[in-house]
Amino acid sequence: ASVLEIKDLHVSVSTEQGDKEILKGVDLTLKQDEIHAIMGPNGSGKSTLSYAIAGHPRYTVTSGSILLDGEDVLEMSVDERAHAGLFLAMQYPVEIPGVTNANFLRTAKTAIDGEAPAIRTWMKDVKDAMGKLRMDESFASRNVNEGFSGGEKKRNEILQLELLKPKFAVLDETDSGLDVDALKIVSEGVNRAKENTGLGIMLITHYTRILRYIKPDFVHVFVDGRIAEQGGPELATRLEEEGYDRFLTKA
Ligand code: ADP
Ligand code: MG
Ligand code: MG
Repeated sequence: ASVLEIKDLHVSVSTEQGDKEILKGVDLTLKQDEIHAIMGPNGSGKSTLSYAIAGHPRYTVTSGSILLDGEDVLEMSVDERAHAGLFLAMQYPVEIPGVTNANFLRTAKTAIDGEAPAIRTWMKDVKDAMGKLRMDESFASRNVNEGFSGGEKKRNEILQLELLKPKFAVLDETDSGLDVDALKIVSEGVNRAKENTGLGIMLITHYTRILRYIKPDFVHVFVDGRIAEQGGPELATRLEEEGYDRFLTKA
């Protein structure tokens, strides 16, 4: 099984006032087939971690490392990261006018696998995956995310996940803005991807609601750019009851 190792990661963001350190030494090891929930109050650095893994140009890793099966992810281009098996939501832009969803998915799949998928099985795979996510077939021929509602965009993200079959996915606030029905469908898709392909998942969320449907193996609580506490699923239950107050009064 593959492993994604984050070691003593320090990340700064460039602002108009100069560089500001956001992540102050994060250690985290994610194996395939594991679900890690990244929780914490707003502004604690959760999204910064996902941007650093994705290679967003505004976020600079000042020290520490990110390794995928021992390979230095920080040396990889954004495309190389996808090819290596990382699913990075920011790589799949919000709207792509003039490009249909079906063509976009096939191009992405071709880039990742290094060869185009056979057209007949591919069309069937797309149809099947859309059916499971209760997406109307018309979404295949619509332009990527153009005019999609918030919930439809989230479903489309999970469609990409199911078809591109990465080793690891970083899902940042996938639950935000979803009603309960959409949350269930999206969660089922994430769980299927884990069962079918052994996907390792970093599930970033401020709220515990999605963790009723996607059961984490490990929970990490971010506070002020560091992991303040880690535990198993019971930690999420405790956070659901108590919120983040005990972390914030300490700070
Ligand atoms: P979270 O996802 O946990 O809510 P973020 O990683 O988005 O937290 O942000 C962590 C901190 O870094 C916040 O204080 C935020 O204001 C700051 N920050 C993040 N990105 C930028 C940026 N591009 N410019 C300035 N400050 C930023
Ligand atoms: Mg350090
Ligand atoms: Mg965030």
